[in-house]
Amino acid sequence: MGATYIGRFAPSPTGPLHAGSLVAALASWLDARAHGGTWLVRIEDVDTPRCVPGADALILQQLAACGLQPDAPPLYQSQRNALYQTALDALIAGQLAYPCGCTRQDIALALAASGQTRSRHAELVYPGTCRQGLQGRPARAWRLLTEILKENRPVAQTGRAHTATDLIANSNMIWHDRRLGAQQQNVAQAVGDFVLKRADGLWAYQLAVVVDDGAQGISDVVRGEDLADNTARQILLQGALGLPTPRYLHVPLVRGANGEKLSKQNGAQPLNTDQPLASLAAAGLVLGLQVAAAGSVADWLAQAVPQWAALHGRTETAHP
Ligand code: GLU
Repeated sequence: MGATYIGRFAPSPTGPLHAGSLVAALASWLDARAHGGTWLVRIEDVDTPRCVPGADALILQQLAACGLQPDAPPLYQSQRNALYQTALDALIAGQLAYPCGCTRQDIALALAASGQTRSRHAELVYPGTCRQGLQGRPARAWRLLTEILKENRPVAQTGRAHTATDLIANSNMIWHDRRLGAQQQNVAQAVGDFVLKRADGLWAYQLAVVVDDGAQGISDVVRGEDLADNTARQILLQGALGLPTPRYLHVPLVRGANGEKLSKQNGAQPLNTDQPLASLAAAGLVLGLQVAAAGSVADWLAQAVPQWAALHGRTETAHP
């Protein structure tokens, strides 16, 4: 691994931590500690209508009760609009982002008209309508151009292993996950040109997360497996912005009674901070850790770190 390990836990403050989100928090903390690295918390509050006032403070308290203290004050995405705008402006200047005037209905109609019913997780695969221009409609969102089949385009950033042109021209992303192994997704085919700034003016998760992982120098992303599907898009966007690609480790999810990822909607209870050892033990089991009786939170964590290191600590694989 590189000399500097910087990891992060990036909760969206839509409610308190529950047994599922603790697994992701604990895994990222353990990985940072096992590598002698830094662990950061980033509050992902870009989607303001979904945020619950006070949830950020509650999450930080719950983490602290479980012994998970960030090494620097948490960063709030809602305070970073200027950074996201600068990134979007760079993409626009490089002709890698374009305005889109399509409504959901426009997209559905365009797909139907071309005989395609391409949809994925109920998301419509964007057919590229506005690549040709807005055709008189007002701009609603901004999208990333996920493939360029033409000649090379110059990009602002050079001196990296990949240039934006290499990556965008080949939107078939192949990446390595430290737990799931070899992964592949052709972003242009599977997702299409994806949204960077939404029609309601809010920053899309993909843009904010990539800009912040880059700005914070994140070397290792450790998060829940439900987010693995975003990784190809994020690596593509890193290339377009001239940012390095971190290593990725996606950890198992805790499932609710309906078999889906545990969430408030399917019965997740807020983490009980009166019983931090029980909460840690449950999260540890999901991660394959078998910590013997521990007298305190600090003791539990101290036992868990070498176990984690034995399972995950020696991984040398970096993104090619
Ligand atoms: N904020 C995202 C979530 O809570 C996590 C983002 C990430 O770890 O990349 O689902």
